[in-house]
Amino acid sequence: MTGGHQLRLYNSLGRRVEDFVPSADPSGMYSCGPTVYAYPHLGNMRAYVFADTVRRALRWKAVKVRHVVNITDVGHAVADTDTGEDKVEVAAARERRSVQEIAEFYTRAFFDDIQALNILPAAEYPRASAYVGQMIEFAATLEKKGCTYRLPSGLYFDTAKDPRYGELAQLHAEGQREAARLEQVPGRRRKTDFALWRAERPGRRRVMRWDSPWGWGAPGWHLECSVMSIALLGPHFDIHTGGVDHRELHHVNEIAQSEAYLGDGKPWVRFWLHNEFLQLGAAKMAKSAGGAPRLADLVNAGYHPMAFRLFLLGGHYRSQLDFTTEAMDAAQATLRRLVARIQPLRPLPAADTLDAATAAAGLAAGSSGQHDPAAARALDLMDAAIAADLSTPKILAALQDALRDPAITPDALRPLIAAADALLGLRLATLETADLEQRRSAAELAPEERHAIERLVAERTQARKERDWARADQIRAELDDLGVQVTDTPTGPVWQLRP
Ligand SMILES: [Zn+2]
Repeated sequence: MTGGHQLRLYNSLGRRVEDFVPSADPSGMYSCGPTVYAYPHLGNMRAYVFADTVRRALRWKAVKVRHVVNITDVGHAVADTDTGEDKVEVAAARERRSVQEIAEFYTRAFFDDIQALNILPAAEYPRASAYVGQMIEFAATLEKKGCTYRLPSGLYFDTAKDPRYGELAQLHAEGQREAARLEQVPGRRRKTDFALWRAERPGRRRVMRWDSPWGWGAPGWHLECSVMSIALLGPHFDIHTGGVDHRELHHVNEIAQSEAYLGDGKPWVRFWLHNEFLQLGAAKMAKSAGGAPRLADLVNAGYHPMAFRLFLLGGHYRSQLDFTTEAMDAAQATLRRLVARIQPLRPLPAADTLDAATAAAGLAAGSSGQHDPAAARALDLMDAAIAADLSTPKILAALQDALRDPAITPDALRPLIAAADALLGLRLATLETADLEQRRSAAELAPEERHAIERLVAERTQARKERDWARADQIRAELDDLGVQVTDTPTGPVWQLRP
């Protein structure tokens, strides 16, 4: 490998692929994190696997990173509105638990999932509720600068004062923003104006409330990301990531308020990176009542979390992916074949600190000084793929081709596998084929069997709702006879086949 390929990333700001050169050491990176009012679903997890791919690409290019992921435990209103109820408070009322219990429970669920998906930990996971004082100061500064106005419902950012408002979303006229702003807020001057502070409505005392110059209430959702990222990464930093839905509103508002606050005429963040959606509709899979499928549902259906990771990385992050049972089966089978091929080559060099230069050196050492052009070419392909806006499908293909290539010796394969795993994070050094055998899983049930089980589970839920405990117990016994185990969770019953 000669020098390596320049890392290039697709910047949503300007909608083009650009050379990425860090502006600081470490380079600052911020990812919009979860709102902890429900289990994260599989679509949510795509954003974190994507951010993890960015992390791995930077590590590969020997760029040190300071990564911050926020935990939204206050401020995020239902349907992303300015005046709606807080998502965490709604969940607390629904589950009859305190807001602290809700936030703690779902924060832990989030950490379980990112760990299961082998996502590199961030340097900081700030909780929004711990930064409300700084959010109030930030909003007060904006008010002093004349960028805001007061309404009975709170303090609003005046987007008319920002001539570049909406640049990220490429929206040049206010009228184009209809879709995002269906909410009617009395007195709001423009549809694009948004709440920095959400005042308590008279007679509607919030659970999470703070005193502020604009009365008792809670911060607006967009405010927290600006405040926490600036507090932890400094006024300007290199990368901000999130799902493509954030590009249209949340990130537009983060930029507007941050640039108004900083007032130095410089772009707040240099690179805005967004992953496309994961379409969840197509999969047939047992899942928690009412919710979208989550990682635990996949595991219950007999899939390994690394198979889901491989499924995600098999598509480019800027392409929509359809989540289907067939695609998951294929991903698990691909991973099982990879692991079966790799197992005899172990132990492998460590992947978790590997950068491109070290990988190239390892390849040279592994070939005992002999030139191994096929292996060098494979490594160059992987480097070119990650550098070209994170083309994970091409890295996977390069690895598979190398494993099939009789010209590449086992000594040269080992550093190649480690290189691919440093970029893909599939745990190729430790996974066992036995981990990837499909148990008799819910996914294999015939549709009639599945319907029969789901009907029984629904009847049992109804019986419990009516406090008909005898009937509920009787149905549980019937399910037990079918080999079905039901677990009651805060969001409803989850069932799985007994292993
Ligand atoms: Zn955010």
